[in-house]
Amino acid sequence: MITSEIIAVGSELLTPEKTDTNSLWLTETLNEIGIEVMLKTIVGDDELRLLETIKDALKRSDVVITTGGLGPTEDDLTRQIAAKALGKELVFRQDIEDGIRERFKKMGREMSETNRRQAMVIDGSDVLKNDNGTAPGLLYEEDGKYLIVLPGPPRELKPMFTEQVVPRLKDLAEDFVVKRRIIGVSGMGESVLDELVAPIYTQYSDVRTSILFNKTHVEIHLYLKAENGDEANAILEEMTAKMADALGIAVFTTKGESMEEVVGRMLFERGQTVSTAESCTGGLVGRRFTEVPGSSKYYMEGAITYSNDSKMKMLGVSAETIENHGAVSSQTAEEMAVGIRERSRTDFGISITGIAGPDGGTDEKPVGTVFVGYADANETRSIKLTVPGDRYLVRWRTSQAALDYLRRQMLKQRGRDKV
Ligand code: ATP
Ligand code: MG
Repeated sequence: MITSEIIAVGSELLTPEKTDTNSLWLTETLNEIGIEVMLKTIVGDDELRLLETIKDALKRSDVVITTGGLGPTEDDLTRQIAAKALGKELVFRQDIEDGIRERFKKMGREMSETNRRQAMVIDGSDVLKNDNGTAPGLLYEEDGKYLIVLPGPPRELKPMFTEQVVPRLKDLAEDFVVKRRIIGVSGMGESVLDELVAPIYTQYSDVRTSILFNKTHVEIHLYLKAENGDEANAILEEMTAKMADALGIAVFTTKGESMEEVVGRMLFERGQTVSTAESCTGGLVGRRFTEVPGSSKYYMEGAITYSNDSKMKMLGVSAETIENHGAVSSQTAEEMAVGIRERSRTDFGISITGIAGPDGGTDEKPVGTVFVGYADANETRSIKLTVPGDRYLVRWRTSQAALDYLRRQMLKQRGRDKV
């Protein structure tokens, strides 16, 4: 069996600030062509540790991939250390330097001398050209072993890998493929979900099923290693369909999409628009809507109305409503939804008002009490949620619930249209 491993280079990847997503993506992509990843390592910008790690990796794995540390600065060590691990020299390539110089010129800038480093390649390696950045990647092959050196930025690494590395590795892979599905489920707890789908997944012993709690929803991951890709896909399709059937409207995607992608697509397909009025989520729903490319087609505007005054001034919530029911109430949520919808002239208005904590809770309305409002041309509604978690989770889960509420209302509307 061909074994592979990934080494992510960069001290920032050891901190909470930056997550190593490259290795996750590489693993998935390698799995798809039938190469299994056995190990991944994250190494800080340390010469000795990196050298040891690459050397060890080359001893035990057939395909070793590094990401990051190819930049022009002093702390970018990977190129040089990879050469050392192989016992090879770095050689200068004029054509690469010319290419980098050209790239800078196009951007109206001068290439700095430090960029010349990026024109150094491991003797005997193939150069992987980089259409999205300056640092080329390298592929070194000897006796069926590969060391593949890739840049860190995902937008540079991904096209380089799919276009230039995958074709080289495909033949190497054995006769199996790995297929996956990710089913996203919202508004249902893990244990209820498990009860509903266990009778299904226990029937498919070849499929590895895991139920994972994401910060905003539950995901069912299906993983199948098989010899025939089409057969594997057919099995996963069948299983997915059964699960979607058992879980009903709680399933928002069977393709691993985010809630904002799903809701955005529904709005786009119907040619409808939405606006948002947010209090305790501080614009998170708006942010999530607008993270999806093309969202300007359906997301019109959002108001962050944090104070009572702002809810009255910007959305027309009445003073009596706030006086009598409080800012965190179904009445306020509904007036907010109507207010933003009318002012934005959108098909839907969505609103959020709640207590994210840690302070501000009362016996009657503890931290995590949230109201989501909904308004369309014909009706106004709201739901009350009790969202568990700290401030961060309350805000994220609330944003998810609001998006999901809109999704469910739209599905209901479609149901009515058909009648
Ligand atoms: P550059 O020429 O941009 O310096 P590089 O190959 O030296 O590229 P790094 O300096 O290690 O790469 O990383 C550049 C950026 O790429 C990082 O700031 C980070 O945003 C992203 N990046 C690096 N490694 C990873 C990783 N493993 N997963 C996700 N993103 C990464
Ligand atoms: Mg760098």
